[in-house]
Amino acid sequence: MINPLAAKFFGAAHEALIGQKWFYFLHERYREQYEYLFINWKKTPDLALNHGPKEVLLNRADSTWMEADLSVSCLPTSLTGTSPLFVGVLHNLTKHKTEYSELRRLASTDHLTGLANRHNLEKTLEKSWLECLNSDQAISLILIDVDYFKLFNDQFGHVNGDKCLQKIAKTIEHCLPANDSLAARYGGEEFAVILPRLHAVSAEIVAKDIQQQINTLTFSDLGLPADFRVSVSQGIATEFGGQFRTSEALICAADTALYRAKSDGRNRISIGH
Ligand code: GH3
Ligand code: MG
Ligand code: MG
Repeated sequence: MINPLAAKFFGAAHEALIGQKWFYFLHERYREQYEYLFINWKKTPDLALNHGPKEVLLNRADSTWMEADLSVSCLPTSLTGTSPLFVGVLHNLTKHKTEYSELRRLASTDHLTGLANRHNLEKTLEKSWLECLNSDQAISLILIDVDYFKLFNDQFGHVNGDKCLQKIAKTIEHCLPANDSLAARYGGEEFAVILPRLHAVSAEIVAKDIQQQINTLTFSDLGLPADFRVSVSQGIATEFGGQFRTSEALICAADTALYRAKSDGRNRISIGH
């Protein structure tokens, strides 16, 4: 038997489904475990079969795959008599999964700039840190702080300030050298870049590129004077060969270097040691 909603789930007519082995619709990754479930049940039929709900992937009539929760259980013999009957209940997870991945994306993204947020930065740094250390490779971190940004807001307003941060974020993202580099919004007008496998010399090249690209940004699209420019100060720290004990220590070193870049006059790059 199959009810109308289940037929709709499979995208096939009721008649087309009756008489087919339901295992056939399971992705092969799951098929065997359900076959074994019934093989084992046949060995000990006195034990009631109750399985799930478990996530499975099902093939629909139009050959698309559908993620679902599946529960399988036997009906009581008081209802079925001697011949066993089972009921399988499917719960479509498509909407739930789509919403879940959207929520995950939102939870790791900074709303204003679209870059990774601080939580994502810390998680990614920890992962890259371990990968680089375990393979005896360097890892560099750049901290970037916009110069005199309070003044920008005071002069041109917060709305323009937000748009400026968006432009800066996009610029930093364009300067990333590899797929596993990450640009993040660290705080208000502060950004961070993780550079796995890069020594300080290469990280400095990236920082110089960022500096130059930001120095040449124009803001006439926001109604600001045509010759108006912004700058950033950057601090770089690199771990190679056991200098720092933790990724937090690396962040601290980059922060100290950034502070030095500020006190040395801004619009410059400082490398931490
Ligand atoms: P410095 O060169 O020393 O970094 O000077 P600064 O003015 O950039 O430093 P300060 O930390 O005093 O000011 C940072 C400013 O950044 C203050 C705050 O209003 C602004 N800011 C932080 N987050 C945002 C934001 O999301 N949007 C806007 N528009 N401004 C922000
Ligand atoms: Mg700041
Ligand atoms: Mg600043």
